[in-house]
Amino acid sequence: MRKIVVIGAGVGGLAAAARLAAAGHRVEVHERAAVTGGKLGVHERDGFRFDTGPSLLTLPRVFDDLDLGLRPEPLDPVVRHVFADGTVLDSSSSHGIFLERIGTAFGRDAATDWDRFWRRAARIWQASWDSVLQRPVTAASLARLSWRLGDLAAIAPGRTLRGLARHYLRDPRLRMLLERYATYTGADPRRAPAALAAIPYAELTHGGWYLPGGLGTLGDALHARCVSSGVRVKLGSEVTAIEADTAVRGVRLASGEFVPADVVISNVDAVTLYRDLLPTPQRLTALADRSLAGFVMLLGVRDREPGSGRETALAHHTVFFPGHYDAEFDAVFGSASRRARPADDPAIFVTRADDPAVHPEGHESWFVLVNAARHGTARSAVDWRRPGLADAYAGHLLDVLARRGLDVRDRLVFAETRTPADLADATGAPGGAIYGTAGGLVRPSNRGPVPGLFLVGGSAHPGGGLPMVTLSARIVADAIGPA
Ligand SMILES: Cc1cc2nc3c(=O)[nH]c(=O)nc-3n(C[C@H](O)[C@H](O)[C@H](O)COP(=O)(O)OP(=O)(O)OC[C@H]3O[C@@H](n4cnc5c(N)ncnc54)[C@H](O)[C@@H]3O)c2cc1C
Repeated sequence: MRKIVVIGAGVGGLAAAARLAAAGHRVEVHERAAVTGGKLGVHERDGFRFDTGPSLLTLPRVFDDLDLGLRPEPLDPVVRHVFADGTVLDSSSSHGIFLERIGTAFGRDAATDWDRFWRRAARIWQASWDSVLQRPVTAASLARLSWRLGDLAAIAPGRTLRGLARHYLRDPRLRMLLERYATYTGADPRRAPAALAAIPYAELTHGGWYLPGGLGTLGDALHARCVSSGVRVKLGSEVTAIEADTAVRGVRLASGEFVPADVVISNVDAVTLYRDLLPTPQRLTALADRSLAGFVMLLGVRDREPGSGRETALAHHTVFFPGHYDAEFDAVFGSASRRARPADDPAIFVTRADDPAVHPEGHESWFVLVNAARHGTARSAVDWRRPGLADAYAGHLLDVLARRGLDVRDRLVFAETRTPADLADATGAPGGAIYGTAGGLVRPSNRGPVPGLFLVGGSAHPGGGLPMVTLSARIVADAIGPA
């Protein structure tokens, strides 16, 4: 039995702690915030309950062996896409149904294109799943991997997601739909690798899911699993340093207390870990771009009066696309000629759960998300703490939504915002970046630079998003092994 300290109670930290306690180790989690869950946040107000982070659960089978008692409900459509020209396309986890819907919305050629693309996406997914996502990959080991030639050709190193979209899809709306998946890893589709086509494939083949009560219930279930497995979870307990000689010795808390450990698992953002917590600070090299961030609105909304006018019907998830998608990426990533800024006309993602557990009767809880530049003062960031900016941008987005066919302005009970600066404060994510490092196949390794130190979570291999951080916990727990 080894004494293991986990720094951070995000999904990755909790999943690793639960696994290792079940494997017989003595595990202690130190979380700087007053709550567990990290980016998987929940906000409650006047009977409204909001997920402030994830709203779409994919690959739920990844959680099966944690035995969390989850009852995911499949979504149909997985996402409703509303385009600037008024066309609507509902995605489906049945490939046949989705092809029919594409045919009806965009014509038969578009459906044929998607079908061809889908065969390629299947090969990309299989190659990624087998060779990358479930293994402890590093840049060197990835290069050494004896890729089967077919797999290597499938993931098309050197090609971007945009390049892949242009190669297979003639309809600009389908291209937009595919390119949006780059932002699921925080990346710009114009630079992100074609391998990200694995994401829509995983989402639409294995389905998009909702957890009754909201996705925050996943965090609660993980916390409960930790406690029932004997993990000690300490809240309000910030780790300020990892102490080591030839191997880790333990962690130092903000209170000054030293907590000895045989193994330390960091759920802290990898850049922060290397820069601030190691005995000898290091710069992470060969990082892909930092991920984009998100601007969130939490809206308490009165039900619409029956017959009170026409508006776009919301599905559980609805995305409203702009006419000119590139302008959004120019704004949130900045460019050589212009600094980053809030996007004027971004894609707007609305989540509205048809679940009485998350709103008072006669009302709805809306989570609205747009891509945003990270918080900061660099050219590639926006100072989200500038007085008045968040409220002004929220008002602007509600106007944009109204122009796109969904006017919620006279039904608001309240509107709250969560900027990238707020996410940085709440979870320690540098600049409020949602996914740590963006897009690439190679992320910081799950093994730290000191023996006995491991990394879990969205900024380490295999990446961000609930299923990936849970896979990172599995990779780390397997590397440490049973007591
Ligand atoms: C707006 C938004 C929307 C998203 N949508 C989706 C979605 O629809 N589907 C999906 O799958 N994913 C989504 N994600 C991504 C998903 O939430 C994350 O990838 C995942 O929750 C990250 O988990 P993690 O293990 O990396 O830990 P994090 O959530 O990053 O948690 C890290 C924890 O470590 C703690 N910590 C940091 N430093 C210290 C320290 N020094 N001492 C002690 N504790 C410390 C933090 O307080 C935090 O609790 C979304 C995220 C956001 C923000």
